[in-house]
Amino acid sequence: MSQMHVIVVGAGAVGVCSALYLQRKGYAVTLLEREAPGAGASYGNASVLASESVTPIAMPGIARKVPGMLLDPMGPLRIRWGYLPKIAPWLIRFIRAGQKQQAERITSELARLLSGCIEDFRPLLKDAGAEALLVERGWVGVYLSRRSLNDATYATGLQKSHGVSVQNLSPGELRELEPAVSPKIAGGYYYPGVAHVVDSYKLTTTLADTFVRNGGVICKEQAEDILKDAGGRVRAVRTDKGEHSCDCLLIAAGAWSRSLSARLGANVPLDTERGYHYTVSQPGIELSRPVYVPETGLACTPLESRLRLAGTVEFGGLNAPPDWKRANVLARRGKELFPELNVERGERWMGFRPSMPDSLPVIGPVASTPNAFLAFGHGHLGLTLAARTGRMIAEMIAGEPPCVDPAPYRSTRF
Ligand SMILES: Cc1cc2nc3c(=O)[nH]c(=O)nc-3n(C[C@H](O)[C@H](O)[C@H](O)COP(=O)(O)OP(=O)(O)OC[C@H]3O[C@@H](n4cnc5c(N)ncnc54)[C@H](O)[C@@H]3O)c2cc1C
Repeated sequence: MSQMHVIVVGAGAVGVCSALYLQRKGYAVTLLEREAPGAGASYGNASVLASESVTPIAMPGIARKVPGMLLDPMGPLRIRWGYLPKIAPWLIRFIRAGQKQQAERITSELARLLSGCIEDFRPLLKDAGAEALLVERGWVGVYLSRRSLNDATYATGLQKSHGVSVQNLSPGELRELEPAVSPKIAGGYYYPGVAHVVDSYKLTTTLADTFVRNGGVICKEQAEDILKDAGGRVRAVRTDKGEHSCDCLLIAAGAWSRSLSARLGANVPLDTERGYHYTVSQPGIELSRPVYVPETGLACTPLESRLRLAGTVEFGGLNAPPDWKRANVLARRGKELFPELNVERGERWMGFRPSMPDSLPVIGPVASTPNAFLAFGHGHLGLTLAARTGRMIAEMIAGEPPCVDPAPYRSTRF
């Protein structure tokens, strides 16, 4: 019997992990990637496997923050005025998702997806001989003001009630864990179950190399159209260079997945939360684990011989140029948090988080097209959930029950 051929569009962390899990099931897999593996949001993220991030981005009180998002161009959440009409329907859904009852439902659905998600990387890393890319030392949440620390008790309460291990830290205890942190903090939390990778780009490219070594094919081509047979099943993908026939198709094109999904009949409210990084190669300080400041949206991660300051959210769509002042603000905030940090000559980057308004990804089949599947919209958690998503997709394509009930992540939920 000939091998079933699956095409995966997009070689970010999600597409590459899906391709590897499909390969493990015995499928012939072709990855279509218009740039290079890991060139999208998977290139420069904070590299944290944030398995404790069970609460949605919109939480109760989010509606009060909208005026600030419009008025403060350097704030942790910003809406570009010109993009406001375009993002408005998405924002309304986002604000609704932050209502208490919704936020608590979403927390349960995220917690189910995140539970044990780091484990799903292990077989892929073992096969790649790259287990050393994974660092398991937890992460630290830092609060600068007493008020924010008090406000955080609702979120940490939700985390605890969903099985997340969280330990309160006084400023002194926190600085014992991470001595580089300024003494001018109110306190924080330690999450021992969180891990990070030494570089998200290195992880994605290492796994992509393994995929090729195991017989997978990567074509540097842009998927432009999807061709169906008379029965409505996908028969081929048309690219800028030609046509690839397939038995099954997976769209994993990150923030660019919307138009391809629409061609399959799936209209999903996918937009992008743009984020920035500022990475320094001679930081002059040492961190043992990532440090996150929720008030400013700043995540600081020790990478292989570098320190990355990453984060913040900008609603500005896929086409507006980067606002590099936002990357500079990350450097300034980093310096405030770590007084000894050397922020000279940092690398600046902007990436497009693929974001759904309810903070839940889309994972599963397309209702109207039986041999087409979707895996995108992971927002702030695309690296964290890449292997879990790949495993679920491979199980669904193989007709097996997936390790997590996919119903909450269906594309038709809106
Ligand atoms: C500043 C910042 C910090 C972050 N920190 C973290 C973190 O610490 N932990 C975490 O879990 N997540 C984090 N994220 C989110 C994470 O980076 C994303 O959710 C994740 O990378 C999405 O992966 P993906 O594979 O879906 O998309 P991408 O990595 O964007 O990959 C999509 C790929 O599809 C390709 N493509 C698009 N259209 C086509 C087409 N038509 N044909 C062919 N190829 C196409 C693109 O070139 C791209 O390579 C962060 C994001 C940002 C911006």
